[in-house]
Amino acid sequence: MRAVAVLGATTLLALAGGQAFAGVAPTDSPEKAATVVTYDASGAEEFTEAVDGGADVWNESVTGVQLEPAEAGEQANITIVADDGWPRAQTTSLGNGRIWMGRQAVEEGHDTLRIASHELGHILGLPDIKPGPCTSLMSGASAGTDCTNAYPDESEKASVEDNFGTASYFKSDADFKRIPLTVGRVHQD
Ligand SMILES: [Zn+2]
Repeated sequence: MRAVAVLGATTLLALAGGQAFAGVAPTDSPEKAATVVTYDASGAEEFTEAVDGGADVWNESVTGVQLEPAEAGEQANITIVADDGWPRAQTTSLGNGRIWMGRQAVEEGHDTLRIASHELGHILGLPDIKPGPCTSLMSGASAGTDCTNAYPDESEKASVEDNFGTASYFKSDADFKRIPLTVGRVHQD
């Protein structure tokens, strides 16, 4: 009985909706437009260029998400500041959080562009993968001060595409933030 009722309803929708849904289809189709994540580097001081460079690295490396400077007065997804500690990131939710471009690592000889890309990687949902080779962005400082590679490897790129590929199926920002992630922890380096 119930099955028949459901079938009946489906048929009705299909009959009535032939034309009505046609106009709605484009916005309903799961097209993977890039998620835009904005960042505010106004507090990044001498690291502003490195932060912009790190954003460019990600924009060149993945298609599911693009990092753009926030407009003046706009609340950015990512706030980036400079301080004297070790570089670190706090991911509050996928694509949202805070980055500290710590001077300590730079004083020890680590590359500023690699640091910026690495910390942005945390905000895009990547964990540290340490120890690891220089070809891995998320191996961070474990690859040594000679390592200046600022680009994610294939598996790191794929993880970010996965994170934002799923996200693009959700419509509202509230839905977007419901994606389960281990967040809130400050990743040192
Ligand atoms: Zn890290």
